[in-house]
Amino acid sequence: MPIDLTYSADVLDLIERTRAFVRETVLPIEDEHGGDITAAGGDEIRVSMQKAARDAGVFAPHAPVEFGGLGLNMSDRAPVFEEAGYSLFGPTALNIAAPDEGNVHMLAHIADPDQRIQYLEPLARGELRSGFAMTEPAPGAGSDPAALTTRAAKVEGGWRINGVKHFITGADGAGFFIIMARTSGEPGDRGGATMFLAPADAPGLRVGRHITTLDRAMIGGHCEVYFEDLFVPDEAVLGAVDRGYEYAQVRLGPARMTHVMRWLGAARRGHDIAVARVAEREGFGSRIGDLGMAQKMIADNEIDIAATRALLVRACWELDQGDHAGNATSIAKTFAAEAIGRIVDNSIQLCGGLGVSDDLPLARLSREVRPFRIYDGPSEVHRWAIAKRAVGAARRAAHG
Ligand SMILES: Cc1cc2nc3c(=O)[nH]c(=O)nc-3n(C[C@H](O)[C@H](O)[C@H](O)COP(=O)(O)OP(=O)(O)OC[C@H]3O[C@@H](n4cnc5c(N)ncnc54)[C@H](O)[C@@H]3O)c2cc1C
Repeated sequence: MPIDLTYSADVLDLIERTRAFVRETVLPIEDEHGGDITAAGGDEIRVSMQKAARDAGVFAPHAPVEFGGLGLNMSDRAPVFEEAGYSLFGPTALNIAAPDEGNVHMLAHIADPDQRIQYLEPLARGELRSGFAMTEPAPGAGSDPAALTTRAAKVEGGWRINGVKHFITGADGAGFFIIMARTSGEPGDRGGATMFLAPADAPGLRVGRHITTLDRAMIGGHCEVYFEDLFVPDEAVLGAVDRGYEYAQVRLGPARMTHVMRWLGAARRGHDIAVARVAEREGFGSRIGDLGMAQKMIADNEIDIAATRALLVRACWELDQGDHAGNATSIAKTFAAEAIGRIVDNSIQLCGGLGVSDDLPLARLSREVRPFRIYDGPSEVHRWAIAKRAVGAARRAAHG
């Protein structure tokens, strides 16, 4: 089936309205607080921005229509999320920030009817936030999810979970967690994981230290989370027992792409600021933007933006066909995470001293985008997987 590169009139209208909302309502709040969501008021500002987004008709473009969302598929999300990402606070305002957006996506695919009412509905409506708890301190799950050490032991009527997670985004103030725990096998085994749902106030669930990282725009921090004899009933199993790794793929492929969409918007803002500046700034008898080495940086940014969009379109199209799209999302994620870093870095360079100052948002953009080369799979892990697939295909072709 050919890839259709046109958007419907409704989606085009939504792109325009999202652009206007983010630039007129959200960007000024981000700029006033230097892109620090905690300094801006944390959940209080989230709630007020989300109310404004609802009033503007741009709220929750990804969520199921039955829960107040706009029900967009992956291909249509791409340009809308990119517009939202133009401000670091835009995704929060539209309720499409990580990890809630990915959790909505996964719950919409896997949750049973009761779980949809208890967890998906309030999350989609922005009534609470959530955490996705997978990564563990060494020697546990990180780049290699199979190293999972958190255990869920079967007990009467449910499961008892013990373990430690870290870097759990949004944990402080989350209403509930999706927890990845081992229900069979040993650390290192490629199966045997299960996903569980647990309210944040369940006895035995404790949010610990905030791990200070480069970024400041994600609400609720990146925290340690402890499970100390946490009891979860059988009804809290998300999907089926021992199928957690399979479900993680339902979340991770699309979540990688929505990160690309949002960070592409942020990078584009950086590029727009830099180009506007060098179009006027003069030096050596010309405008900086007319000097060859500056032109190279501008052109490289344009190429990186276009190439990122193209890879995104391909991967989203595959996901919308119901494909797993493992290779396409790995390729798009790896290229985009690095391209976005280059775009922001070139933008800083073009702006000289102002580029690294707080007078422009470029320095903070650079802090925000750097971790993307690590989460949702470090570049090295994606390259490793892409190469393994290519070599495997060559072997199969050679040996039939
Ligand atoms: C800002 C931020 C937010 C996060 N939010 C969440 C969250 O909400 N929930 C959650 O569960 N986790 C979250 N994480 C954790 C994130 O998913 C992990 O950091 C990531 O999976 C890498 O795991 P690790 O940190 O344990 O690195 P390690 O597994 O220790 O890897 C370290 C490095 O080793 C190299 N490496 C690893 N494998 C290979 C390979 N096959 N080939 C070559 N080199 C390799 C890579 O360079 C990698 O960066 C977050 C992380 C950050 C930074």
